[in-house]
Amino acid sequence: MQTSFSLTQLADPRTAEADKILRACVHCGFCTATCPTYVLLGDELDSPRGRIYLIKDMLENERAATADVVKHIDRCLSCLACMTTCPSGVHYMHLVDHGRAHIEKTYRRPLLDRALRAMLAKVIPSRPLFRVALSAANAVRWCAPLLERIGLKPLAAMLRLAPARLPPRRKDRPRVVPPHGQRRARVALLSGCAGDVLTPEINEAAIRVLTRHGVEVVLAKGEGCCGSLVHHMGREREALAQARANIDAWLLEIEGEGLDAILVTASGCGTTVKDYGFMLRTEAAYAGKAARVSGLARDICEYLATLELDAPVAHPGAVVAYHAACSLQHGQKVIRAPAELLVQAGFAVRDVPEGHLCCGSAGTYNMLQPQLAGRLRDRKIANITKVAPDVIAAGNVGCITQIAAGTAIPVVHPVELIDWATGGPAPPALQRARDHLRAASSDD
Ligand code: SF4
Ligand code: SF4
Repeated sequence: MQTSFSLTQLADPRTAEADKILRACVHCGFCTATCPTYVLLGDELDSPRGRIYLIKDMLENERAATADVVKHIDRCLSCLACMTTCPSGVHYMHLVDHGRAHIEKTYRRPLLDRALRAMLAKVIPSRPLFRVALSAANAVRWCAPLLERIGLKPLAAMLRLAPARLPPRRKDRPRVVPPHGQRRARVALLSGCAGDVLTPEINEAAIRVLTRHGVEVVLAKGEGCCGSLVHHMGREREALAQARANIDAWLLEIEGEGLDAILVTASGCGTTVKDYGFMLRTEAAYAGKAARVSGLARDICEYLATLELDAPVAHPGAVVAYHAACSLQHGQKVIRAPAELLVQAGFAVRDVPEGHLCCGSAGTYNMLQPQLAGRLRDRKIANITKVAPDVIAAGNVGCITQIAAGTAIPVVHPVELIDWATGGPAPPALQRARDHLRAASSDD
């Protein structure tokens, strides 16, 4: 694609990067076929190619974003299916991140939208605030239809997404969890924010599997939200502050006792931590440190695949539908490792038809774009149901919450199943589903 940025514009390294990305696009349109919003809406402006043109126009002409442009960019899930499909290697992720930051700087959203986004950006990254918000949402869940009727659809979606029961507040974990037997590696595990409130059992399972296999696990002091939530809203300043805080926390460990890897159980967060090096590349004080952290970042299943895991001690034999989270398959290109680990652990794994299409979770998308997110979830669940699973496995807490809100089939993280098969407890979601079935059959 031809571009016409001026030399002055290209002196800005961010514009120079956008120029490089735009020039790689040959407008072939292959990406449209796998873009969920194009598949649903059939509008070129809701396709990757259409959005690339919109972003190009804004940046080249230094034009403020218009309501129409914002509408189409907001509808993008950042699922990155387009990056997997693109034959020219167009880095859509970096381009749309830049486009979103430009929107945030040049466009004043309507009051309600602004308030909603500010609230999400403040509440979700804070574990205590998020916990209070979920409890409050549960108490007023009955308001959801009313909110929907008066046009407050995002608020209605938030109430509906809040799980009916919150897991008990997790006990403080020790900062360092020693391995069983001889130490073969030392890793940091990202506790994160929302995931540790919604599904603390995932990190618990990861710690058990790792320590059982001789890996010492460190929960670095000062780490928290990875920043992806605000990053995808275009709130760059907040995202970079959160990234720097994590980098500082992990650097202390890297330069102290050392780290072999930084592990993340939520693939959405993992994609962002792997991108810290790019996000902070122009900051002299952080560029090197950020690149070091990104170089050590691994998804939990990606890392487990490098260890020789013990043979399964339990033989649950369940049929697992493996839902490949977009951030894992398209963002990190971790494709086969989770399913292969599950097969090794003794599960019968089924791939889900249309596995390249997003479930509609996408960070805050399911709250900010509830209609499209709902359509994508229904489609995903219909596809999952075709393989008649006992349980669904997904490597991202966002997908787990999104899919679980629309089906009675238990949804868990692959690491919970691996933990179960190699000597840990059954995943709580599976246990709850079994108790429910038992109670229902004793009522008959
Ligand atoms: S597939 Fe790649 S090169 Fe083709 S239009 Fe899409 S982004 Fe551009
Ligand atoms: S990131 Fe996903 S929704 Fe956005 S343009 Fe690419 S394929 Fe479409």
